[in-house]
Amino acid sequence: MMDMLIALFIFVFGLIFGSFFNVVGLRIPQNTFLSSSRSACASCQQTLHWFELIPVFSFLLQQGKCRHCQQKISLLYPIVELITGLGFMLSYLMLGLSIDFILALFLVSLLAIIIVTDYSYMLIPNKILLFFLPVFVLLRIIHPLEPWWSSIIGSAIGFGLLALIILLSKGGMGAGDMKLLGLLGIVLGFPYILLCFFIATLYGLLLSTIVLFKNGFKKKKEVPFGPAIMLGALTTFYFGENMVQAYINLFW
Ligand SMILES: [Zn+2]
Repeated sequence: MMDMLIALFIFVFGLIFGSFFNVVGLRIPQNTFLSSSRSACASCQQTLHWFELIPVFSFLLQQGKCRHCQQKISLLYPIVELITGLGFMLSYLMLGLSIDFILALFLVSLLAIIIVTDYSYMLIPNKILLFFLPVFVLLRIIHPLEPWWSSIIGSAIGFGLLALIILLSKGGMGAGDMKLLGLLGIVLGFPYILLCFFIATLYGLLLSTIVLFKNGFKKKKEVPFGPAIMLGALTTFYFGENMVQAYINLFW
C-alpha cells in the first residue's frame, strides 16, 4: 500500500519533470534556455496560464488545442510527460530506492530530452551530453560495475562501434548518436553496451516502420535514432541480466 503511494507520487513527480524536459529539449538547441520568457503557445505566442501548463491534463481538457487560437498542440508534449512519469515509476517499482534507481531516473530524463531534440531538430545537443557525462561518471564511481573498468571498455566500444558504422554507411546515424552510445557505455559497461545497440536497432526498425505506415509510404522520412538508442539502454538497464541469463539457459 505504502509502496503504491510512493509509486504514484513518483509518477506525478515524473510528469512535472517531463514538462520541464519539454522546455529543456525545445530551448537548449536554440540557446534560449536561460531566457526568462514564460511558456507560450507555439502558434499564437500567447503566454500560457498555470492551468494551461498542467502536465497531460491541460492537453486532455483542451482536447489538444490552444485555448486562444484553437491551433493543435503537438502530441509530443503529453507523450514526453507520460513517458517520464511512467519511466520514473517503473524505475522505482523495479529497483526500489537505490543508486540504480537514481541512475535509471537520469536515463529516463535523457530519453525524454532526446525525444524532444531529436524529433524537433534532428540532433542531440552536446550541452545535454556534457551535462550527463559527469553525472554518470560520478554515479559509476560511487556504484561501480564489476569489474569497474567495464565502464571504460563499454564507453570505448560504444563510441567506436558507431564511428565504424558512420564511416561504412555514410548516413543514417550521426555524430550525436556516436557520442550518446559512448556516454551510455559508462553506465552499461561491456558487453551490455552491445546488447543495448542490438535492442536499439530493433526499436529503430519498429519506429521507422510505424512512421512509414503513418506516412502512407509516400516519401522517405528520416527517423531519428537517438530515442531508439535510449530505449535500448533502458531495456538493457532494467532487463539485460535476465535476458542474458534466459539466453544462456536456452542455448547452453
Ligand atoms: Zn495559440
